[in-house]
Amino acid sequence: MKECEDTGIIKTIRCIVCPTGCLIEVREDIEGKNTFQGYTCKRGLEYAQQEFFEPKRIMTTTIKIDNAIHPLLPVRSNKPLLKEKLNEAFQIIANTTIKAPVKMGDILIKNITNEDVNIIASRDMEKK
Ligand code: SF4
Repeated sequence: MKECEDTGIIKTIRCIVCPTGCLIEVREDIEGKNTFQGYTCKRGLEYAQQEFFEPKRIMTTTIKIDNAIHPLLPVRSNKPLLKEKLNEAFQIIANTTIKAPVKMGDILIKNITNEDVNIIASRDMEKK
């Protein structure tokens, strides 16, 4: 069977799974099928496929907190969130104010953007 014509590299992805940092090339043929080259292990291929088809990020930011020793509390997502949902999540956090006291790891916003990801406190925060 004849192979489809390759239209070239459409993206390069640096694998960050281990310190080797392989550079993975994503190619696309004329039928739109993607192939991955340059990874040296299965974990790298899985990382590149995730990053190409459905990139996710751990989000870190701050949230307003009332009655606390500081006006803002550092927070993060408990697991990576779809990159395309980050702006929506930042907006929800910007429109939310919580109350002190808070313990590190407390869930402050559950299931943000309906992605089964929680926003948690990155540190303790005492009352004023
Ligand atoms: S492809 Fe494998 S060896 Fe290369 S950086 Fe990723 S995890 Fe490390």
